[in-house]
Amino acid sequence: MKRLADVRGAGMKRLADVMHVAMNVLLVLAGLLLGLTASFFLTAVIYAKTGWEPHGLLALIINATFGFLLFGFGLAILGRLIRPKEHQFWTELMEAIRRISRGDFHVNIQPHFGDRNGSKQKKHPLHQLVIGINDMAANLKEMEELRQEFISNVSHEIGTPLTSISGFAKALKNEQLDQQQRQRYLTIIEEECARLSKLSDNLLKLAVLDSEQHPFQRSAYRLDKQLTAVILACEPQWAEKNIEMDVDAQAIMIAADEMLMSQVWMNLIHNAIKFTPDGGSISVAMSRSGDSVLVCIADSGAGIAEADLPRIFERFYKADKSRTRTAGGSGLGLSIVQKIVEMHQGSIAVSSKPGAGTQFTVTLPLESKR
Ligand code: ADP
Repeated sequence: MKRLADVRGAGMKRLADVMHVAMNVLLVLAGLLLGLTASFFLTAVIYAKTGWEPHGLLALIINATFGFLLFGFGLAILGRLIRPKEHQFWTELMEAIRRISRGDFHVNIQPHFGDRNGSKQKKHPLHQLVIGINDMAANLKEMEELRQEFISNVSHEIGTPLTSISGFAKALKNEQLDQQQRQRYLTIIEEECARLSKLSDNLLKLAVLDSEQHPFQRSAYRLDKQLTAVILACEPQWAEKNIEMDVDAQAIMIAADEMLMSQVWMNLIHNAIKFTPDGGSISVAMSRSGDSVLVCIADSGAGIAEADLPRIFERFYKADKSRTRTAGGSGLGLSIVQKIVEMHQGSIAVSSKPGAGTQFTVTLPLESKR
């Protein structure tokens, strides 16, 4: 049924195109006929007035030439009548392009061609051009806003530790400071420097991942071994906070970029440790589901408010600004995690209850397609 409708639709379209061409040909013929007829009568009047009677062939040539000239003249007049509208359109279009090239993306050209309300207007090539330019301006505007936001976030993230470093460095100049205070200030300076260095590392990582130029080296390896290695590498941090670490690993082979995936587990486990108070617990579990593997990292930490949950993967987003200030994060860790997981055609989900803990679930295909 559908096929028949398609065939009928295509047939109708072809018929409409043929009719359109036929109409144009008829219009040109009518114009020529009009020109030749006008020429015939005008030359007749001229011959009658001058008394000159040219030879048949010459009369025909004169008549035809004059007729064509009249036809051309008529076209020129018609063009003049239509041109102001056309001229206005092209001026508007050029101005819009000039504004875009100057970085002003507040452009919205009004398309107005042919049949205003019909579908014909939408199919008009110039209408399509206008829509394309409007879309391009809207996309560039969005990108520019993101760029501005990114710059202001980076400036903020750099500015805060720098203020702190310069403040404590100034304080250290005071010779009356006792040794203990001096050590405390130096520790703060050290921490703030580490924070800046981590920020620059993360920014670089994101830039490389965004540029899609990161060498994606897929290899088959044991996911359980990788998770265990990351947990062991973080032992000093979780042991220091007396956190109970529960690992439920099973032998699962995965085809992925080992270095990148290691970064994912590192960021998630670091966060779990960071946001879990002393004496809390963290559990890491993995399971197979069809041709995917699920890795759950759950903690008994402070949790995340429901309103913040949809935003935690955004760059620079920190759910609890005051808490994260002391925890020293820059809000880039989860964006990196999400980016890497998506590069592997996987997904990441989060569920959390304030006060009861947070659980991140990473789903990865066992065989990466990239
Ligand atoms: P940060 O470097 O600030 O930790 P992330 O991108 O890793 O940045 O995390 C973004 C925010 O998500 C954090 O600031 C924190 O508020 C919240 N968050 C992430 N993981 C956890 C967790 N396990 N428990 C509670 N909050 C978390």
